[in-house]
Amino acid sequence: MARMTQKCAHPACNCQAGEDSNYCSPYCEDAGGTTEIACNCGHAGCGAGAKAPTMTAR
Ligand SMILES: [Zn+2]
Ligand SMILES: [Zn+2]
Repeated sequence: MARMTQKCAHPACNCQAGEDSNYCSPYCEDAGGTTEIACNCGHAGCGAGAKAPTMTAR
């Protein structure tokens, strides 16, 4: 089954997971089993790190 790019398995994270992981970062992997209100993975546009404007076109 071809593996499409999927969302990070962290419930509160909106990032895309890596190819070899269900999470976008070690942070999410560690917090994946924990129900958190916000994600602190630090990626732009995600959770507590979403300080950047909405218009973030790579
Ligand atoms: Zn995140
Ligand atoms: Zn994540």
